[in-house]
Amino acid sequence: MARRRSSQARSSSTKSQVKAPADRASPRYPGPKPKIDPRYCCFRLRIGRSKIHRWGVYADEPIPAGRKVIEYTGERISRRETKRRAEAPYNYLFTLDAYWTIDGAVGGSGAEFINHSCEPNLYAKIVKGHILYMSKRDIAPGEELTVDYHFDKDVERVPCRCGSPNCRGTINVK
Ligand SMILES: [Zn+2]
Repeated sequence: MARRRSSQARSSSTKSQVKAPADRASPRYPGPKPKIDPRYCCFRLRIGRSKIHRWGVYADEPIPAGRKVIEYTGERISRRETKRRAEAPYNYLFTLDAYWTIDGAVGGSGAEFINHSCEPNLYAKIVKGHILYMSKRDIAPGEELTVDYHFDKDVERVPCRCGSPNCRGTINVK
């Protein structure tokens, strides 16, 4: 997931590793072709159509809890450049810390296509400047992988359609 309007990356929060929304289901979407780079995966994953939003990433084999699943890769860009790219209609920006952002649209591993859910099966762990998506629980083959984007509450609100029973209604935290 990562997609829907740009709005987000203006946040300078260091705590929530906020990822910008991008890609609003446009057939003319100009961004990267959805694909998984196996060099950054620890399990077999595939891209498919998602009920949550456009494309999603699916487990192709069982994934035990507490394991590294995929690294969120991309170009490392400065705060100023982040601001500029966040203006684009689509983006895959993941705020790493107060200064750096990872732009998954450039050299992304495919993790940038993982959708948001309010009840995700993955979480992001930052290790020495790398964003690792870890499994929160056992994941069965065929399950869509999801992560909580934790958009700031003070940026533009993005409605959530994750469909989980505890959906908070927006991708933003409350
Ligand atoms: Zn939700």
